[in-house]
Amino acid sequence: MRHYEIRAGSDTLHFYVYTTRVADAESRIRALEALFQRMPPAHRRTAYPVFVVDALPGGRRTGGGNWSRTQARTQWLGRQRVTGVPDADLERYALSHNGGVIGITAAALADEGRARGIHQLSVFHEIGHCVDHHLGLVPPGATVVDLRGQRYRTPNVREYAVEAYSRWIVRPSRLCRDDALPPGETQDRCTQRTLALLRRSPAFAGIHAAPTDPAPIPSTPWAGLAADWDCTRP
Ligand SMILES: [Zn+2]
Repeated sequence: MRHYEIRAGSDTLHFYVYTTRVADAESRIRALEALFQRMPPAHRRTAYPVFVVDALPGGRRTGGGNWSRTQARTQWLGRQRVTGVPDADLERYALSHNGGVIGITAAALADEGRARGIHQLSVFHEIGHCVDHHLGLVPPGATVVDLRGQRYRTPNVREYAVEAYSRWIVRPSRLCRDDALPPGETQDRCTQRTLALLRRSPAFAGIHAAPTDPAPIPSTPWAGLAADWDCTRP
């Protein structure tokens, strides 16, 4: 196992890598630091440690997932044969800190079969579930219709909100998917509407700063952001 950490202010996000399949895992993880720094501090503190594995506890080898502490206890413990993560490590790095587990597969971190840079969205999607779980990313009464411009394999308002949140971190000028834009709505209009909605969520109460698109990230082929990935939520 290799351990890496990225930092923002006084906050640290830990990565525990149990796969050897991603040759440049360290540089991919370190490149996430600039994105982690865009998260509001109150949001950063909700993030669970990230376990990078060949297979998630259910055996799936693509995408990622998010498990609360209770869910991680029942679904990750005793699964070393599948995940490669010993129970002692789960206790030491996650459960004993009152945290749950973010699982990211090697395939997702390596962008296997996906556009380069898509892993940024995978990771921040799963972190977004932590923000949603602890602070709430869905405004009262909001539905998938209010979040049109997102897409998920099943219409689920939490997934849509988390998806929009991950894009707010990774590419805030394009909160909506180009392949899911509502008829007659431009990307800019969809972005503004979606951001206004996110800002009405409990997690954004009292938060005024907004990430802006930075220079370092854009070389990504953003057409690839239309790619779907699997997100396991028990
Ligand atoms: Zn999800």
